[in-house]
Amino acid sequence: MPHTELVGNIHIHSIASDGTGDIGEIASAAARSGLDFVIVTDHNTFQPKLEGLYNTVAVLIGQELHVADANHLLVIGGRRDLTPLAALPQDVIDAASADGALTFLAHPFERPGRVPPMRAIPWEDWAVKGYTGLELWNYMSEIKASLSSPLRTLAAAYAPDCVISGPFAETLARWDELAQRRPVPVIGGSDAHAEWFSIGPLRRQVHPYEHLFRCVNTHILVSSEAPLGSLAELKRELYGALAAGHSFVAYDKLAGAKGFRFDLREGGVVVATMGDRAAWRPGLVIHATAPSHCRMRLIGNGQVIMESDGTELQFALMRPGVYRLEALRRFAGSLRGWIYSNPVYVS
Ligand SMILES: [Zn+2]
Ligand SMILES: [Zn+2]
Repeated sequence: MPHTELVGNIHIHSIASDGTGDIGEIASAAARSGLDFVIVTDHNTFQPKLEGLYNTVAVLIGQELHVADANHLLVIGGRRDLTPLAALPQDVIDAASADGALTFLAHPFERPGRVPPMRAIPWEDWAVKGYTGLELWNYMSEIKASLSSPLRTLAAAYAPDCVISGPFAETLARWDELAQRRPVPVIGGSDAHAEWFSIGPLRRQVHPYEHLFRCVNTHILVSSEAPLGSLAELKRELYGALAAGHSFVAYDKLAGAKGFRFDLREGGVVVATMGDRAAWRPGLVIHATAPSHCRMRLIGNGQVIMESDGTELQFALMRPGVYRLEALRRFAGSLRGWIYSNPVYVS
């Protein structure tokens, strides 16, 4: 069973495309935020030479590929620049798979911003096959969606915690639907650009890297005990766990999510964890534990089948299904999404 938890931020832009920070600045912001790794995914470029261990933080280089305002595809663990194939997502997915790389559909559902006007960049090519999974929760997509009035835009800039509430319902629904057919691992992304905005003499970096690295992160459970020993070993472990869905997405700013676990037990023994498949038999029990008090929602085949408050949840399974857990916490008067586990698949 996996037992080392690595916390990282995925989907980051640097000065290699339209971000504002270089790799050194991104790595030090990640270190200040307490992250173990970051995966930088610049638009239509690939700079693997920048990969490395920057003190305690592993900086890994992926890509975000696209040619238009739709079908943005994240490639993680790639070996070559797939930009020449960007016009056809299926070609990128096939080439990445052949290289052993992972592909995630980025911000698959998006909503436009109104103040200022910003286009939605959704995933449209749902006929694609063979991709790894979905970016379930994209922090900057949620910020964009909140830009609906001057007041909300001010809130998004100066009190972003007030506008963040969880992945879009459409993304959750599509994930549940796809996961009925095959395991679909999900990741969380910041889509960090850390842009500067000027209004008259005022110049402000509205969502700096350090802030973004404390928000929507992906927590990965790897089997190695010393994964930071070498970069090659870390990459092998990390990409293997991402592909297997041995991970969960968490909005750590609401409360630290490290230590959350969701697994399947039989006679008190863990027999499967997030991302795993298990054969159905009587006596299987879902078990979840959270590092602090929250509302836990057990979802089976897309439906809420149990809800309880606390730090632990147990549920004796009566039938096969795809089971996942959502944990929510109250902030500023309403329940906000906090943790989204990858499912266990019982068939
Ligand atoms: Zn994008
Ligand atoms: Zn992006």
